Amino acid sequence: MQKKEELPKEMSDKKVTKIGVLTSGGDSPGMNAAVRAVVRTGNYHGLEVYGIMRGYSGMIEDDIFQMDSRSVANIIQRGGTILKTARSKDFFEPEGRAKAYENLKKRGINGLVIIGGDGSFRGAQKFSNEFDIPCIGLPGTIDKDIAGSDFTIGFDTAVNTAVEAIDKIRDTADAHDRLFIVEVMGRDAGYIALHSGIATGAENILIPETKTDIEELISSLTEKEKRKKLVNLIVVAEGDEYGGANEVAEIIKKRLPNADTRVCILGHIQRGGSPTCLDRLIASRMGYHAVECLLNGRFNVMVGILNNKMNYIPLDNAIKAKQKISEDWLKIVKILAS
Ligand code: ADP
Repeated sequence: MQKKEELPKEMSDKKVTKIGVLTSGGDSPGMNAAVRAVVRTGNYHGLEVYGIMRGYSGMIEDDIFQMDSRSVANIIQRGGTILKTARSKDFFEPEGRAKAYENLKKRGINGLVIIGGDGSFRGAQKFSNEFDIPCIGLPGTIDKDIAGSDFTIGFDTAVNTAVEAIDKIRDTADAHDRLFIVEVMGRDAGYIALHSGIATGAENILIPETKTDIEELISSLTEKEKRKKLVNLIVVAEGDEYGGANEVAEIIKKRLPNADTRVCILGHIQRGGSPTCLDRLIASRMGYHAVECLLNGRFNVMVGILNNKMNYIPLDNAIKAKQKISEDWLKIVKILAS
């Protein structure tokens, strides 16, 4: 093995023997599959694996227990997370993180796998800088708003849930010649809206990443009304600049009083449910490689998948960079909705 000073920043020859795993921030379907993969891969390599409850809260409150292969039986198909998740205010404070470190130290835990979004990675980055505990991040978010990976755990399930719901809405929209405005999750990211909107043939998709031209929307609806295209679906991400489906509907109702306009907000159903095959697969691959990273001294990286290959990017890059919406996709939306 190379000497430490010759190693790149994220590589180390420190030996990891006991690891902790936690799920943090917003929950996403597939987190359980990732936990299972971490526990079983760790056990396979003879590591002790500890589950940490409720994200960083459990680390601070010492809610930590040893896991074995049996403790993750029968969870690969379950949504939510058996480790529970939380947002921890105390972890923002140095005292909270110091307490968390003491709880790891007394058990000899010397490596962590954090399954969560960019907020959780920010916490991990701080923690590993302060206490020399290597952290591996797995992107667990339904929003897909993390750079360095084509997939995030939970996105595929969430988007399929949205597609199933929007298909049903289209049936009733069709029966009554209605204009439906459907709101999907995505406070800062429009991926659920973009993917589910294209997949359900939405006429318009409003997302936070692009400027919403309400005049253009109204004139396209007016033009469609003229050609008797009566069923219209608009998919809005909750974080669109106009504020969401209710706000957009208000504007449309004023400008197009003849349209039979309805709103449907999908809400939290998008977070739950049994993970899709894709989410189970990527969670299993990422969980396995997270442990391999710790064993091979590849520290403080996020494990992603790019072009079907594992991709490791330093946690601070995963935090800084956001994915960019492809111009091509936006063009497809416009052309296919005519
Ligand atoms: P997500 O991981 O889904 O983006 P949050 O942004 O809520 O969710 O972050 C989850 C948790 O990560 C926070 O409640 C907090 O405990 C921790 N965290 C986030 N940002 C920081 C930070 N800058 N410093 C320390 N801890 C942080």
